[in-house]
Amino acid sequence: MSSSQAAPGSPRGILFVVSAPSGAGKTTLVERLVERIPRLRMSRSYTSRAARPGEADGVDYNFVARDRFEQMIAGGDFIEWADVFGNLYGTRAPDTERLLETGCDVVLVIDVQGARQVRGRAIETTTIFVMPPSFAVLERRLRGRSQDSEEAIQRRLRVAREEVAAYPEYDFIVVNDEVDDAVERLGGIVLAERARRGRMREQAEAILRTF
Ligand code: 5GP
Repeated sequence: MSSSQAAPGSPRGILFVVSAPSGAGKTTLVERLVERIPRLRMSRSYTSRAARPGEADGVDYNFVARDRFEQMIAGGDFIEWADVFGNLYGTRAPDTERLLETGCDVVLVIDVQGARQVRGRAIETTTIFVMPPSFAVLERRLRGRSQDSEEAIQRRLRVAREEVAAYPEYDFIVVNDEVDDAVERLGGIVLAERARRGRMREQAEAILRTF
């Protein structure tokens, strides 16, 4: 067993939710984070949108047809799902559950609407909002993405204003000014959550018994 795998019978993992406006760089941050921290996994969402060049099914997303996605909604498959820019995105409950049961901590990288649904289900979760340093920086980053039309950029910026205004709903805020620093701060949050007394009780009691 590698050090990144949880031992059988280990306690249930922690569910983290990371949201940010489109272009704030959250996927890059979380990809780096899971490389750096053992026993931390990024959940793979389902989406009805078409794969972009360079994206692969089962890697970036599970790409499914819209009618299949709608069947999955009807079947109650999702912990949360949302319509983002006209495409459907969702987190399939059994996928997340399986990972948490192995003791791995799981990060959902989802939008503000999805985060509200997770909270609404009274699922224990730690939520993190990633902010760009300013509106101007976000605009510059979005324009740097070659494939977006001017109309798409304007729409993303409008939605971004609404999303950033939702930051008070989150437990932690990370400003993505510099990637390495932001990953470091995200990692700090994960490690602090793991160190909570409630989660450390079994180990602490075992240590106490040696005294
Ligand atoms: P993109 O199409 O650029 O990959 O993602 C667009 C938006 O959808 C991003 O804000 C992303 O966080 C969000 N998103 C991706 N997967 C999910 C998901 O499973 N649920 C929800 N609610 N949003 C998601």
